[in-house]
Amino acid sequence: MKKAFITGITGQDGSYLAEFLLKKGYKVFGLTRRTSTQNFARIKHIVHDPNLKLISGDLIDQHSLTFALNDVKPDEIYNLAAQSFVQASWEQPVLTGEFTGIGVTRVLEAMRLVCPNAKFYQASSSEMFGKVRQTPQTEDTPFYPRSPYGVAKVYGHWITVNYRESYDMFAVSGILFNHESPRRGLEFVTRKIANAVARVKLGKQTHVELGNLDSKRDWGYAKDYVEAMWLMLQQDEPDDYVIATGETHSVREFLQLACKAAGIDDWKSIYKHNPLFDRPAEVDLLMGDPTKAKEKLGWKPSISFEELVKIMVEAELELEKKSEN
Ligand code: NDP
Ligand code: GDP
Repeated sequence: MKKAFITGITGQDGSYLAEFLLKKGYKVFGLTRRTSTQNFARIKHIVHDPNLKLISGDLIDQHSLTFALNDVKPDEIYNLAAQSFVQASWEQPVLTGEFTGIGVTRVLEAMRLVCPNAKFYQASSSEMFGKVRQTPQTEDTPFYPRSPYGVAKVYGHWITVNYRESYDMFAVSGILFNHESPRRGLEFVTRKIANAVARVKLGKQTHVELGNLDSKRDWGYAKDYVEAMWLMLQQDEPDDYVIATGETHSVREFLQLACKAAGIDDWKSIYKHNPLFDRPAEVDLLMGDPTKAKEKLGWKPSISFEELVKIMVEAELELEKKSEN
């Protein structure tokens, strides 16, 4: 039985990846950090699976990572844990650097000491392209991060490449563009909009307050993207890949389509601008070129932008119908 170790298993991607690997017959080990109340909402349906084991540790605690890997001796390591919210990275830049940047080195160091022959996946981000130097963005597009989060991810990317080149470790960096699902955190714009339009439809609130509607993102479906992570670790040679849909859409388009999916005729009637959600430095446009992933991994997205919006709005309508608040 192959063994996979996932940091960030309680997050959106970690939960989908754990499901995916359990279905593939892996024994899955997930790192969870100590919190005052358990945060297992996204993994509650698999937490009692006999092939899933949770191990306590934190990206900030080197020994906890070394001990965890020593216990597990995994074949594959997926480093998904991070402070993943761009806006919060201006409020907590040092913590973001610790978790999202240096945390990668800690996991790589633990792997180098304990299981150097394992395969390592680093969750890199399109935010590294920031103020984009070319469109669409490929594996060769220069980075120009625009937030402490983006800067930390650039560090994580290069330390992964560096460990591959310095120690001949199988370490890959997946440069994933935004990917969403009903399990996305409520603070991200897609889930925030999907939830708000569902609540407006059900008469629970009257409007949604947003920042910049003009920014454009290449939004895909999280379930498709975790498969790409796994595919990268099944290759003979370690390499870096852009994972994206190749399309870009504005926040405004997301809001318009979400209103349509909820049966709200006039999107403008429910929208208010709130400068609190504008960013000190914005990433205006992201659009990835997934050609390399298509050709070498045989990967392609299965869900269109319109379908993604619909999936998210329908999930929120269902959730909000059940909840009393
Ligand atoms: P989430 O924010 O949903 O999940 C982050 C996970 O990291 C959670 O399980 C969280 O645990 C864990 N975590 C945070 N800090 C620590 C720490 N110090 N020690 C241990 N665990 C920690 O992110 P996603 O699932 O959306 O993203 C997964 C990864 O992919 C992240 O690295 C993100 O930056 C990156 N990424 C995501 C993209 C996207 O569009 N979703 C795009 C490109 C990259 P807890 O539950 O306790 O908070
Ligand atoms: P990001 O691409 O990782 O920063 O993902 P987000 O979902 O947080 O943001 C995507 C885009 O939506 C960014 O350009 C934000 O500036 C924009 N945006 C506009 N209004 C909001 C809002 O209310 N919340 C968030 N999170 N983003 C917003």
